[in-house]
Amino acid sequence: MADASLNPFLRAQQAFKEAVDTLGLEPAVYEILKHPLRSFEVAVPFTRDDGSLQVFTGYRVQHNDALGPTKGGLRFHAAVTLDEVKALAMWMSVKCALLGLPYGGGKGGIACDVDQLSPREIERLSREYIRAVSLVIGPDKDIPAPDVSTNPQIMAWMVDEYSRIRGENTFGLITGKPLVIGGSAGRMDATGRGLVFATKQLATELGMAFEGSRIAIQGFGNVGSVAAEIAHAMGARIVAVSDKDGGLYNPAGLDIPDLLAYKRTHRALGGYPQAEPLGNAELLTLPVDMLFPAALENQITADNAARIRARIVGEGANGPTTPEADRILFDKGVMVVPDVLGNSGGVTVSYFEWVQNQARFYWTEAEVNQRLEAYMSQAMAAMHTMHERFGVTLRKAAYLVAVDRIAQAMRYRGWLN
Ligand code: GLU
Repeated sequence: MADASLNPFLRAQQAFKEAVDTLGLEPAVYEILKHPLRSFEVAVPFTRDDGSLQVFTGYRVQHNDALGPTKGGLRFHAAVTLDEVKALAMWMSVKCALLGLPYGGGKGGIACDVDQLSPREIERLSREYIRAVSLVIGPDKDIPAPDVSTNPQIMAWMVDEYSRIRGENTFGLITGKPLVIGGSAGRMDATGRGLVFATKQLATELGMAFEGSRIAIQGFGNVGSVAAEIAHAMGARIVAVSDKDGGLYNPAGLDIPDLLAYKRTHRALGGYPQAEPLGNAELLTLPVDMLFPAALENQITADNAARIRARIVGEGANGPTTPEADRILFDKGVMVVPDVLGNSGGVTVSYFEWVQNQARFYWTEAEVNQRLEAYMSQAMAAMHTMHERFGVTLRKAAYLVAVDRIAQAMRYRGWLN
């Protein structure tokens, strides 16, 4: 029988249910939160380079907008399904509320394999997706951003397409844009930077030194590669990294700037001379101090959780740990920085980008990074208060903070009666 905890949507529902029950809130809160307010499935027809027409399926889900317009990334990945996007949108609601951002949660994506598409095809696909959802997104409605396999160039095509449809430059539509067209300083690094910030804080609380600690990182994309670079610069030893094709291990620590240069030239990690090859699954159970899963959902499961040797798991990905694995890690004394905090640096700086777009006044990178730390510190403090008050894991504590805030907004707005 399929393990229900592997279905992220059922998992997200269960987490909301537990939070509503623990807080003793009215059942109407869960009745509203258990389903997204709006889910769109759209056909995205586009022309291949050979002139043929292909139609992919796209999604956009708006989970809850009590706190403000919905916000969340767009992923291009072959395994994207409506249930996955719903879960990701629900997790965005938690993330935005926990961080105190004036947003609800949204998410979207296209089921496609970008490796099979040329850059021109990706551009046409991105523009067609925006045409398909243009009526339901907007700077005051629902604001997309990058996620798995999407990047500033794709955001640029999307904001251009939307601006053409509207007949006016609408930079506030989307975040994660290139700097020159309304992007924010520090946005590219924000998720990785926030992950390092949150895990370092926790390490300090546990009396562990961050400098000299051994870290393994699964995923070397928007989040993992930046976390590796920043943690390395702060004196941590990154002993293993991996991407979807496999990984690298060097117990003495990888030279991350050199590895990044290698990846830029070879467009892959494989073949890097200063390390041994390593499987993605093996990476998770290495003898390290910290493990950063920064790829996809369901990586730490009941099958491998007992073999995790890290003291801290810092979730850069969304949903990398199943609830069963969470219990096993808790029993082993492994501390988990939950995804909704661990990777919240991205959406927090997305919020700053949107604010700068509305104000048409841009901040320095130092200002952005300073404000990011202030937002994350506040969220961590709120999470810790709930952690102590209710004696629950940091993940559950994060849900308590978020669900309480969303419920208050819904109550004031009169949605609960
Ligand atoms: N896709 C990122 C996330 O999962 C960023 C979302 C955003 O910046 O809106 O948090």
